[in-house]
Amino acid sequence: MLRDAVRSLAEAKIAPHAAAVDEEARFPREALDALVANDLHAVHVPEEYGGAGADALATVIVIEEVARVCASSSLIPAVNKLGSLPVILSGSEALKKRYMAPLAKGEAMFSYCLSEPDAGSDAAGMKTRAVRDGDFWVLNGVKRWITNAGESEFYTVMAVTDPEKRSKGISAFVVEKSDPGVSFGAPEKKLGIKGSPTREVYLDNVRIPADRMIGEEGTGFATAMKTLDHTRITIAAQALGIAQGALDYAKGYVKERKQFGKPIADFQGVQFMLADMAMKIEAARQLTYAAAAKSERGDSDLTFQGAAAKCFASDVAMEVTTDAVQLLGGYGYTRDYPVERMMRDAKITQIYEGTNQVQRIVMARNLP
Ligand SMILES: Cc1cc2nc3c(=O)[nH]c(=O)nc-3n(C[C@H](O)[C@H](O)[C@H](O)COP(=O)(O)OP(=O)(O)OC[C@H]3O[C@@H](n4cnc5c(N)ncnc54)[C@H](O)[C@@H]3O)c2cc1C
Repeated sequence: MLRDAVRSLAEAKIAPHAAAVDEEARFPREALDALVANDLHAVHVPEEYGGAGADALATVIVIEEVARVCASSSLIPAVNKLGSLPVILSGSEALKKRYMAPLAKGEAMFSYCLSEPDAGSDAAGMKTRAVRDGDFWVLNGVKRWITNAGESEFYTVMAVTDPEKRSKGISAFVVEKSDPGVSFGAPEKKLGIKGSPTREVYLDNVRIPADRMIGEEGTGFATAMKTLDHTRITIAAQALGIAQGALDYAKGYVKERKQFGKPIADFQGVQFMLADMAMKIEAARQLTYAAAAKSERGDSDLTFQGAAAKCFASDVAMEVTTDAVQLLGGYGYTRDYPVERMMRDAKITQIYEGTNQVQRIVMARNLP
């Protein structure tokens, strides 16, 4: 029922704008409005904090169905989870109450600020600094590649509180867009997910009350990594949705397009490609849903499974969208058809929330 409801909404209210959002590289306002109106913008927020209380699998299905028509728009529910999960996992009761309610109501979005210009895969090498000053912390630094920066009201920011201790000297904070000293860089000009703004976040003597720290001092990096264990599964869901959207389009196209006097769907070479695409998507879906169940239960092998789902599903998305372009021939290579956008959008799923090389490092360290 949830899938049917999200699919109908996505096809009616999000799909019609997907090409323009990409072409004009503009935030998918229509998608945000439609998701908020139907309470689908941050479904993971627990009921006790005013949210829909969706479990990890339901959240995956929402993201998958939105990504099937518009990957940029699927970053609204996905990044709302990424940005707010550190508070849900490690924050005080007061922080949860204060920040989850506006998120659940659709009054505010939440971004996640881990990466920096010189600290990507090696996130613990970050330089953003937080220094204690009485009942306040003062933050200085630059966060890079922040999804939905400028659109979000709230930001989970990881910063160094003790430079001697590397990852154990990193703490997490909630920073608000309206805090004096917060500003944003120009939107990055990207290959895909052009509707999702990616900007730098500048922290210039941002002075915030000490109770904005998420969890204990020195636990920020652990919280950031624990968050990714859960949210990599949402990137797998995004990849899965993009791949399914490309397969669905190609499936329809091959029945219409005629060459050599018959629909190209009649050629076995084309049928085998479609069979492989569907097989890989189904394998990615099973891995992703199983990982979502592990996320919900907090199973001990979640770290491996989350990395495996993200890595596998994103590689499948890249292969399937490339094959979809192939099945449309020259037409697939133009912006008159959606598969070239899907191919460009798929690429990011192999890069963010840890590149697929980093996923393999994570898996190797956590072999089942
Ligand atoms: C569109 C977009 C949105 C993003 N959104 C966010 C966000 O909201 N919040 C956030 O915090 N970050 C975000 N990121 C950052 C993203 O997570 C990083 O780009 C990613 O982790 C890679 O870091 P890097 O770009 O510095 O690449 P690098 O770390 O410099 O990696 C370059 C290459 O080296 C490889 N490499 C590095 N180390 C190793 C190793 N040990 N072994 C093998 N290969 C290795 C990488 O796999 C990659 O191929 C986003 C990025 C993009 C592009």
